[in-house]
Amino acid sequence: MSLTLYNTLSRRKEPFTPIDPSNVRMYVCGPTVYDYAHIGNARPVIVFDMLFRLLRHVYGAEHVTYVRNITDVDDKINARAAADFPDLPLNEAIRRVTSATEKQFHDDIAALGVLLPTVEPRATEHIEEMKRLIEALVARGHAYVAEGHVLFDVASMPDYGRLSNRSLDEMEAGARVEVAPYKKGPMDFVLWKPSKPGEPAWPSPAGIVEPGRPGWHIECSAMAERHLGPVFDIHGGGIDLVFPHHENEIAQSRCAHGLPVMAHVWLHNGFLQVEGEKMSKSLGNFITIHELLATKKFGANQWHGRVIRLAMLGTHYRQPIDWTAERLLQARSTLLDFADLLAPVTPAAAPNPDVVAALSDDLNTPSARSIVHGLAKSAKRNPGAAAELRATLEFMGLYGGETRDELNVGVEAITVDSGKVDALVAARLAARKAKDFKESDRLRDELAAMGVSLKDAKDPKTGEIVTTWEIAR
Ligand code: AMP
Ligand code: ZN
Repeated sequence: MSLTLYNTLSRRKEPFTPIDPSNVRMYVCGPTVYDYAHIGNARPVIVFDMLFRLLRHVYGAEHVTYVRNITDVDDKINARAAADFPDLPLNEAIRRVTSATEKQFHDDIAALGVLLPTVEPRATEHIEEMKRLIEALVARGHAYVAEGHVLFDVASMPDYGRLSNRSLDEMEAGARVEVAPYKKGPMDFVLWKPSKPGEPAWPSPAGIVEPGRPGWHIECSAMAERHLGPVFDIHGGGIDLVFPHHENEIAQSRCAHGLPVMAHVWLHNGFLQVEGEKMSKSLGNFITIHELLATKKFGANQWHGRVIRLAMLGTHYRQPIDWTAERLLQARSTLLDFADLLAPVTPAAAPNPDVVAALSDDLNTPSARSIVHGLAKSAKRNPGAAAELRATLEFMGLYGGETRDELNVGVEAITVDSGKVDALVAARLAARKAKDFKESDRLRDELAAMGVSLKDAKDPKTGEIVTTWEIAR
């Protein structure tokens, strides 16, 4: 099975060849743990989980190492800790915020059918590795010390900007940020900085006397190297991370070792949007994973995690996705259709090969989804197809034995007084016969508000209209 992936670095789809097929290595930037993750943050988690599952299928589960980090040192974490626990020492407050948020994140994404990564390193447990990288960068002339900071000297790297396809001149011309006076060049970025009093601090590298803390970019370079080595196969994250985060990771990792590459393939998911705008904390247009799972804030409905996952995978990972209730309703009705077919069968030994082939083509999940629909059609007549459908959905993380009731989480069972419904249905028919369409429409709406949907059909013998009704879910 040949796998192709779109590489941001080359801007085209390429056949994927692992450096070592007995240990395929992937790093994905994980969450900064200060608050509930929103459904936009869930997109890379689900997309790269799908890729992890595919790599395990192709190369064998024990031959894939997937690292997804946890960023637990950050200004936003400090601010949150000080606001939520003003009476505690800051470091204790930070620990409370990060451990609670981390647990919430794990619970949320487990509900979305996401597998645990092989390693989930925390930034605060890799400070020594960060310091070693920083010292190597200083020793090789790629970084300098200024006013308690260590900065990366971008002018020292001739091809800085290759991933985001921008030259240093262009970037400098476009730089509108006020440049700190201690920087040699406006695009130079922080590797290490002084900590303010009370903030987490570690003994500094590069001969700096005052304690300090790492910059964000160096964290990922250090964790990736520690767990995957200086050169590995795949690096992923959302498209907003291309610049500056991933550009700077590449600069640090390559220059610290004098290597031409950090990761062979760079993969980026598109944005999840609301009415055409990126979902983000700063715009305030976000809904958390937790709110979707456990409240009725979105589309006046609660949503099962597998439904959310299918809704997410319905769009190709590089395309933007508009997050709507309609999308979730469709995904729910699809999974409800599947549920009855799947429960009685034992899964087949392997997922459907056409689905695997679609996913192997740069993770074409929309195509995989339509193949799955075809399988479901055959499964209605053929238990062999049902067994394969089940294996395929389990492989894609879309089935874990859920019943219809579980998938319908939060949808109240509708009970109606059938005598009353019959009377309203008869009154509507009478209004139609009398050509009082205003009244017949009003009665249809009244029934719909009770959760009743109507079906009109002609009696083949008499030619009369016969109306049947059912509870709409
Ligand atoms: P952050 O917490 O902002 O660093 O984001 C964590 C991950 O979620 C990164 O890979 C981001 O690129 C990704 N991300 C954040 N917002 C969105 C969004 N609206 N759509 C898709 N991915 C996103
Ligand atoms: Zn990162």
